[in-house]
Amino acid sequence: MEYRRLGKSGLQVSALSLGSWLTFGQQISDKTADELMGMAYDAGVNFFDNAEGYAAGKSEIVMGKILKAHKWERESFVVSSKVFFGTENKGPNRVGLSRKHVIEACNGALSRLQADYLDLYFCHRPDKNTPIEETVWAMNTLLQQGKILYWGTSEWSAAEIMEAIRVARQYNLIGPTMEQPQYNLMERNKLENEYLLLFKEYGLGTTIWSPLASGLLSGKYTAKKTADTRLELKGMEWLKDAVLNEDKLKKAQELQKLADKLNTSLAKLSLAWCLKNPNVSTVILGASKPDQLKENLTALEVVPLLTDEVMGKIEDIVQTRPKIVQF
Ligand code: NDP
Repeated sequence: MEYRRLGKSGLQVSALSLGSWLTFGQQISDKTADELMGMAYDAGVNFFDNAEGYAAGKSEIVMGKILKAHKWERESFVVSSKVFFGTENKGPNRVGLSRKHVIEACNGALSRLQADYLDLYFCHRPDKNTPIEETVWAMNTLLQQGKILYWGTSEWSAAEIMEAIRVARQYNLIGPTMEQPQYNLMERNKLENEYLLLFKEYGLGTTIWSPLASGLLSGKYTAKKTADTRLELKGMEWLKDAVLNEDKLKKAQELQKLADKLNTSLAKLSLAWCLKNPNVSTVILGASKPDQLKENLTALEVVPLLTDEVMGKIEDIVQTRPKIVQF
């Protein structure tokens, strides 16, 4: 395993990490979740990603039990939670980024994960109804209390992250260390365009999500077979529509041919492509089956195959490179 600094912070995260969205407490059994975390940990993964909103809090309960059962040394792993969407009880003050919810959600996550502190705590989305000052102060309070070690954002705009940094500087508080954006061969603008100044000037770290665009970039949907996948989960109709898009499927088919020529799988090629970006601190893997994770955990082997020529071929196929704003 390779370890990378989370932006300019001193914290090192494994280049490949493991997340639990749609899987833990929902799509897979607790036994499979246990197997996946064990495999990941044994392969050197040190970061496990979670959120209050995953399976309405159940994902954290499952992960907490697994962390406890394995008795891994607390210093050997990094665990996260995210605040914004709430757990099963929605309603005023149970969602969003008010001081009340940020603090209560953290206490809730600690109890579900059976942890004394969270290494990483994310604002899962921006909250237009809470002043950024209130959220930054609440995060700083949690840091001072030792309940979280680093805080960050997820799917915030560059302007919103800049504003959080500005507020933190104004009041001598600790600002955001990392952002969690979607990043894959189909979705590139934030990482390759919008956040460039944040990387250069502020050393923002990134923990990127959906590196396989929910499985599309494993190539398995070219025949449009969706049985036994997340696309058949209740409430995921929007995701099914997004994944089974003709243009994206055609690109996946072409990428598959390139992966065949390189004698690797498309999943590994797609993950390696994410890993090659130096502004990616860690690629969060998702898996519903041990075989998927086994394959994905070897993606670092494919990075050396991504020569300039291969990268050029990938660009020709996907045509998703954002227009870069020059600073
Ligand atoms: P991916 O895009 O990699 O999708 C993972 C899914 O793709 C698996 O669950 C599986 O789904 C399928 N898959 C994985 N590997 C293979 C393979 N080798 N061959 C075939 N199919 C495969 O990542 P996720 O969307 O799961 O995102 C990763 C993590 O990022 C999440 O767990 C979560 O922690 C985080 N995240 C954060 C978000 C945020 O807003 N901050 C949003 C979304 C995710 P299937 O069961 O269908 O086969």
